[in-house]
Amino acid sequence: MKKTALLLSLILFVCCGITFSSCGCSKDTTSNFYDICVTYDETEKVLSGYETVTFKNDSENAFNELKFNLFGNAFRKDAKFKPILSGQDLTAYYNGESYGKMEVSAVEFDGEKIAYSIGGEDENILIVKLKDTLYPEESVTVKIYFSLHLANVLSRTGYNDKTVNLGNFYPVLCAVENGAFKECVYYAIGDPFYSEVADYKTSITVSSNLTVCSSGELINATEKGDKKTYSYTLKKARDFAFVLSSEFDLLTKTENGVTINYYYYNDLTPKDTLDISVKAIKTFSNAFINYPYKTYSLCQTGFIEGGMEYPCLSMISDALTDKAVIEEVAVHETAHQWWYSLVGNDEISHAFLDEGLTEYSVVLFYEKNPEYQVTRTELIGTAHKSYSTFCSIYDKIFGKKDTSMLRSLKEFSGSYEYVNIVYIKGALMFDYLRTAVGDTAFFNGLKKYATDYSYKIATPDSLVGVFEKIGANTNGFFKSWFNGEVIL
Ligand SMILES: [Zn+2]
Repeated sequence: MKKTALLLSLILFVCCGITFSSCGCSKDTTSNFYDICVTYDETEKVLSGYETVTFKNDSENAFNELKFNLFGNAFRKDAKFKPILSGQDLTAYYNGESYGKMEVSAVEFDGEKIAYSIGGEDENILIVKLKDTLYPEESVTVKIYFSLHLANVLSRTGYNDKTVNLGNFYPVLCAVENGAFKECVYYAIGDPFYSEVADYKTSITVSSNLTVCSSGELINATEKGDKKTYSYTLKKARDFAFVLSSEFDLLTKTENGVTINYYYYNDLTPKDTLDISVKAIKTFSNAFINYPYKTYSLCQTGFIEGGMEYPCLSMISDALTDKAVIEEVAVHETAHQWWYSLVGNDEISHAFLDEGLTEYSVVLFYEKNPEYQVTRTELIGTAHKSYSTFCSIYDKIFGKKDTSMLRSLKEFSGSYEYVNIVYIKGALMFDYLRTAVGDTAFFNGLKKYATDYSYKIATPDSLVGVFEKIGANTNGFFKSWFNGEVIL
């Protein structure tokens, strides 16, 4: 995600235009498979349908149940964990209070109904009881009938005047860690998601007036009466999302076999936004590892933060009006295609792994595309300033600050602390690392990290291990940044 707060704080510091803006689990779950079929009712604001999910047990444990995250349930009235920060709720719920929910009406195995329950800390987990124990290397397929009622909210999941955001719209298998399903609670700070890659086949039926922006590659479109059905496929992806709108214009460019789409309705320079997204795909493909999918879609939408990443799809807020900010958010979200999407991580426990490296990738982008006239020195200087201000404010308020990076989303006091530790300190860590080991080792390390952990889950130990393996001897360096000892 791109925090608007970060953008604003950084822009204030910039004078000329823009911006700065684990042992790794090695499970490669390409065998997990979702076949999702949904219909969107525009009048009721309800998405309903089913998914057939195949789960392969790659762990060393046996399972008697499967667990799925029901992210849509965070929007219900009595949710314990609200999806929107309290200071942002008036903006996000711009039409007043509104609620949503995710309901499961049946679960089937082999055509027969099987038992399930809704549990977790906040009715956020679907627990499906298996008829037979699932042993290692075995697979099971279940069919889940569900409906998602949308709130009127500028969030990842919800509808607004211009668009319908369908992020996290289906029951998502919890990631398996140490032989157990890891449940995600919907924290309002950060992106509270943790999932493993799977293959997807999806179809969505919508009113004919709606254009669908999707994570997948379109394989078929049919029209019946006033409805259209679009079918997509996507292999080895960490998630799948849609954004719907009757307002979208579309610009498209194909480069190196990748079709890059920009769906927009409120951008004075849409061609420039598309161009910078194309350059970002190219720059990061050269710097890290080739973008492996056939499409990438950036779509403008109603959203409370600057933007939000999903595999092969990024949301960018229609509230952004400054050209340089729109472009910087486009670069940030595109960098997430490498850090979060390809190289996955537990975004609840190790948010800096994707956000810090994504923010530093923005620095690399401007460095490698000098026509935008933003330098590394300028960007890192801005980050330093922002972080120093944060440190002195925290010293004054609390007498002592905690700058450790190894902490969960729930351990951050608020957005300001989260942005400074995760985004800004995270980005600074990568810049200091680069200075310490030199450009050759640094870029070799990032390439190796992207190569070794694509489609997998990386942890902080994975990152350290990669640089140790290339002989950079950085264990002490990372330790001092992770535990907050380093003084900047
Ligand atoms: Zn981000």
